[in-house]
Amino acid sequence: MTLQTRSLFDESPYQHTFTARVLAIGELGVALEQTLFYPTGGGQPGDQGHLLLPDGSAATVLGTQRDPLLRSLIWHQLENPAALQAGQEVQGCLNWERRYQHMRMHTCLHLLCSIIDAPVTGCSIGAEKSRLDFDLPESTLDKEQITRSLNELINAALDVRAHELPASEYRRLLELSGNRIPPPMTHGKVRVIDIPGVDLQPCGGTHVHNTQEIGPVVCDKIEKKSRHNRRLILRFACVS
Ligand SMILES: [Zn+2]
Repeated sequence: MTLQTRSLFDESPYQHTFTARVLAIGELGVALEQTLFYPTGGGQPGDQGHLLLPDGSAATVLGTQRDPLLRSLIWHQLENPAALQAGQEVQGCLNWERRYQHMRMHTCLHLLCSIIDAPVTGCSIGAEKSRLDFDLPESTLDKEQITRSLNELINAALDVRAHELPASEYRRLLELSGNRIPPPMTHGKVRVIDIPGVDLQPCGGTHVHNTQEIGPVVCDKIEKKSRHNRRLILRFACVS
């Protein structure tokens, strides 16, 4: 039997709860046969929440990550893994508020990529703030202009679509996106996020379905990290 976790977060990014059997318990945490918990990757933090056990008790999920060797297996880091047993059926509940902030921020970073014509060298997504690093030796970037352009795209209420493409298209897409961070490839497929006419790139993260859901954002800072690196920091304009 191959150990692998079905990625429910790809199929149903807006679902909050699910049921699953415990596949394995190991050093990296607890693996389930399927999960809505997004594992740390592509700059997006792993999900948090809790698992409800058959006896009615709850086990806190502190974080989620992919197995470093077996990428199709996802581990949940629990506060008390000893409470679980392999084969048990549990109910998983996401910390939805945090995850939805990540989905909004993550989608906003795709919009940011579309307005800055330079390769991305780093990415970090947070519930309140996020940053993207660009390989830009000379900077003529203006944060007020970036804020305006981003909010125009957000207010245009654009659809955000996810497609799965065969791995053979992987290299072509990587060149197309100018992205130096390779996306995760699972089951021989590459997931592509398409905001038609604006941005198309391979990405394994979770996104909102329409840019309007992002809400108003502000480009807070543009930092020079090295001779070739410019860091752009974004935050939500309204604290929810
Ligand atoms: Zn993405």
